[in-house]
Amino acid sequence: MRSMTQLLYELKTLLINQMDDSKGRMEDTSFFEKFVLEICDAFYADEVTYFKLDYGRKYLHIEASTERYLERRYIPLGSCAVFNDGELYYYKDFQVEALKDFQLYLPLKRENGIVGLLALKEGIPGSFEQITSEEGEAFSKEVLKILNAAIYMSEITSERRRYKQLFRVTEKFHASMSMDAVLGEIISTLQEVYPSFTYFLLLSHDNANHENLPIKDLGYDSENVAVMQAYVTGTVQIEDEWTARKTNLYAPLKGKQGVYGVLQVIAPNARMFSEKEVEFISLLANTAGGAFENAQLYQQSRRLISDLQLINETSHKLNLNLRLSETMEFMKEQIMDSFHADEAGFVYILPDGTANFLAGSTEFFHSDRSGLYVDFLKEKICSTMESLFIGDLQLKIPNKDVKYRSMMAVPMMESEQVHGFALVLHKDPYYFSFDTFKLLQSLIHHTSLALANSMLREELEKMVITDHLTGLYSRSYLDEKMLESMEKDHEGTFILVDIDDFKKVNDTHGHQIGDDILIQVSMIIQSSIRETDIGARWGGEELAIYLPNFSIHVGQGIAQRIQEKVSEQTEPKVTISCGVSYWTKGHKDHVKALFKRADDALYVAKNTGKNKVLVQD
Ligand code: GH3
Ligand code: MG
Ligand code: MG
Repeated sequence: MRSMTQLLYELKTLLINQMDDSKGRMEDTSFFEKFVLEICDAFYADEVTYFKLDYGRKYLHIEASTERYLERRYIPLGSCAVFNDGELYYYKDFQVEALKDFQLYLPLKRENGIVGLLALKEGIPGSFEQITSEEGEAFSKEVLKILNAAIYMSEITSERRRYKQLFRVTEKFHASMSMDAVLGEIISTLQEVYPSFTYFLLLSHDNANHENLPIKDLGYDSENVAVMQAYVTGTVQIEDEWTARKTNLYAPLKGKQGVYGVLQVIAPNARMFSEKEVEFISLLANTAGGAFENAQLYQQSRRLISDLQLINETSHKLNLNLRLSETMEFMKEQIMDSFHADEAGFVYILPDGTANFLAGSTEFFHSDRSGLYVDFLKEKICSTMESLFIGDLQLKIPNKDVKYRSMMAVPMMESEQVHGFALVLHKDPYYFSFDTFKLLQSLIHHTSLALANSMLREELEKMVITDHLTGLYSRSYLDEKMLESMEKDHEGTFILVDIDDFKKVNDTHGHQIGDDILIQVSMIIQSSIRETDIGARWGGEELAIYLPNFSIHVGQGIAQRIQEKVSEQTEPKVTISCGVSYWTKGHKDHVKALFKRADDALYVAKNTGKNKVLVQD
């Protein structure tokens, strides 16, 4: 046996050499291997193994040995008394089966108790007997000093490495607002620090597609008690699976406002996690939870902002008092853009219950195929006054395919009345998210009033029956009355009036005088017909007269009298040309055809010298 002093000197030299730079780091873990070899040599021993006492003081774990141990790296200690008694340096009759073959044990003590064990097997039988107990004790003390120093140093080094990682990760987290980046960073950091473990992220409400991330759903009905425990209590849980020979650690991803999921760390071979590891993993999980929360809040607020922008922009546009058709066109564009919909339509329900599509609705709604959806919705929405959000539409109608599977329908309400509804469709089932649905609701809610106003205004315009410049009836009123008359009367005459060379009047005298001429002609017409007849402004400088129950002969006479009066009484003087048409009961006829015949006659009058009245052929 080599001299103890010599051995101790060599061991110390070994330690110093192992520190790879002046900063005292010990990145190289081969120290312990070299250490046991050195002792083995010096004692002419058969084997020297350095066991480390693991977390919970329940296992011995082989840190270094002169033998190659492949199996059984973890030795359960049971209720072995040796580690309760830190005073023992030298122990010959060990109870633990796996340690029986050793003849010399040197427990490694720290201030907080025993941390490990150096075990030696005799190479030459009885050789350890030669060591006196003073020698043994003195040697142990010294060896332990060196070993402790090395353990400390390697612990500090690896801790430093871990916390450097943590710091780096934290920095990254704060720079990133992407949840995927945060999650990816957690996994890659752990894989770097503890490469032999397997990791999973169990996320509570996750529906995004994460690329290549080991994400599992955290079911609330999960049968795994430890996962739920970690999630609900926000504390780390450790669970041994003896049969599967593995240990699971569950660390909650905890932010300030809640727990966002659980990080699952699986250690192979039923290994216990050291306190340091648990601390590090839970710190990382907490940091990630915070970052996760930030990223989520950021995404939420971004979505909210863009939602608000959409509503704001739309409301603003509606308040510009556009024509209804323009308004609806704009709404459709917004919906198609924001929701990536296939179809968007606006149904207007008339007081008698019939449904009309407003202009602006996509093409589909002008085809018969849309009836299927509208019939289904009209009933539902009018009775419940509630929105519908359907992920997979199943309409059981024979011989008809349901082309669109995702549907959102929101009523357009005003003063607690359903005026119609907006309908948004997509071919794929479950295409729209619930957030999208909420946004559509809020968009329609915010625009319903403006839409109702817009519709009302257009209705009102139709209801205005007189033209403000000439005092004659409006064209829509004329249309309506002619339709009525052709249904109930026996005959009627229609006269289309156009001022000759009116452009010249405007050009020579100005628009003001032009307007005045229009008024003069209108007054002549007004004074030449009865109250039940209808003098109307057809458009521009064209006027029209409808004489219900007038035969063509009487009608033509009236037209001629007006034409004469205009050429005599206007100042500055203008002339007019008239096209006259008529209908009589018994002949299939129509308002539009009546217009056309008068217009044709007028055309001929214009081309044959003007200032005349011509009757349809
Ligand atoms: P003709 O009918 O004899 O063929 O010639 P025209 O000069 O009347 O022909 P046209 O129908 O092309 O021109 C009509 C003009 O009437 C053009 C437009 O500037 C003018 N006009 C239309 N509405 C009004 C109006 O309300 N006030 C005024 N001042 N002018 C109008
Ligand atoms: Mg004209
Ligand atoms: Mg004219």
